[in-house]
Amino acid sequence: MSVPYFYLGTHQPHWLWSPAAGFPMFVSHRRLARYKTLRPAVAGWALDSGGFTELSVYGEWRTSPAGYVRAVARYDREIGRLEWAAPQDWMCEPFIVAKTGLSVAEHQRRTVENFGRLAELWPRSSDAECPFMPVLQGWTLDDYERCAALYADAGVRLEDFPVVGLGSVCRRQATGEIGAIVETFAGRLAVHGFGVKTAGLLKYGQHLTSADSMAWSYGARREEPLPGHAHKNCANCLAYAAQWRSRVAGLCESAAARGWQPVLFEASEAA
Ligand SMILES: [Zn+2]
Repeated sequence: MSVPYFYLGTHQPHWLWSPAAGFPMFVSHRRLARYKTLRPAVAGWALDSGGFTELSVYGEWRTSPAGYVRAVARYDREIGRLEWAAPQDWMCEPFIVAKTGLSVAEHQRRTVENFGRLAELWPRSSDAECPFMPVLQGWTLDDYERCAALYADAGVRLEDFPVVGLGSVCRRQATGEIGAIVETFAGRLAVHGFGVKTAGLLKYGQHLTSADSMAWSYGARREEPLPGHAHKNCANCLAYAAQWRSRVAGLCESAAARGWQPVLFEASEAA
């Protein structure tokens, strides 16, 4: 059995071009946009649109689709090795829906509309292949099914995409519901899990084509720094991140070797 292709999430976009990294990373547009000088990436990477921050802070998207497309085209040109970019989707966590004052259905409508808009704008900024991947948004399994139907109505064939993001999952991975939602779509789509924690990876990693995680950084904040490290903790430390990544990859590989039977003590140890 295979293991999900894993992107290490980081607040440090310059790791993209650090020879000390050299593994796939997941970086937010909000962080990357601050860089005047960009350098070529040493490994493949994917771009987070930063929607969670925009919607939770402003209750709306302040970055225009045209502005986002121009930024992504620049990253693609100047950094390269961009494997895909998230669209400007509308998360459906209840507190985000409360913040925008809209409904889940309206968030889904806007998510699908934005995906079409980005694809339409892309050729104005780049001759390269369009990097945006669709994201399913919702809260209940029925919601996600309705979102898939909205894409179909818009003429978007989700099964043709190398990756389809599953949104609004990262803050409720302890619930069995997410596993059921992932499993439902994994049979027909190549699912990317956003912000998956170690326990989630071990629980439903077999159904994911790819995943990203910044769980290492939250963990490191609560721990002593690695021996010989002068900083207060390793929450922004490449050496720590690289070690964590190897450990999680090892856990996933042994889980796959066992046929993905749950071993909970390992999950809690690395979460
Ligand atoms: Zn460190």
